[in-house]
Amino acid sequence: MTTEKCNNHLRHETEREALDHLRWARKQPHGKNLRALNVFRCQICDGYHVGRSGLKKQSAPVSNPTPAAKPRTFGEIRRKLRQLENQWDKARRHRAYQLQAIVDADRVCFAAEQTLVEAVVEQRQQQDDVLRELGIQIPPAPNPLRTGL
Ligand SMILES: [Zn+2]
Repeated sequence: MTTEKCNNHLRHETEREALDHLRWARKQPHGKNLRALNVFRCQICDGYHVGRSGLKKQSAPVSNPTPAAKPRTFGEIRRKLRQLENQWDKARRHRAYQLQAIVDADRVCFAAEQTLVEAVVEQRQQQDDVLRELGIQIPPAPNPLRTGL
C-alpha cells in the first residue's frame, strides 16, 4: 500500500506494489516516456520506489576510475628495504673491487719502474766498464733513483 513519501518518491511496501504502480503509470498518456524508470529498494526507508534506472549506473564506477594509491604493507616496506640494502652492498663491493684493481695496477706499475731502474743502472755499469777498459775517464753517472732517470 502506498502510504508515505521518501525523498520525494512514493513509498511502496512491496516490490510487487511498486511494479504494479510502474505498469499503471506506463499505460497513462505519455507513459512511454517512463521507460527509463524501474523499481528499486530504498536503503533509507527499506521500502520500494519507482525511479530512474540511470541512478544505479551513475553510482557504479564510471570508465576506469583511477585506483586509490594503496598504503604499503609492513611486508612490502621490509622487502623494499632489503632490496635497497642489497643494492648498497653491491655498490660497496663494486667500489672495493675497483679500489683493489687500482692498488694492483699501482703495484704492477711500481714493479715495472723498479725493473726499468735496475736495467738502466746495469746498462750504465756495463758502459762504465767498457769505457774503463778503454782507459777513458768518465764523470760519475747521476743516480737514476734520485733523478728519476
Ligand atoms: Zn525510501
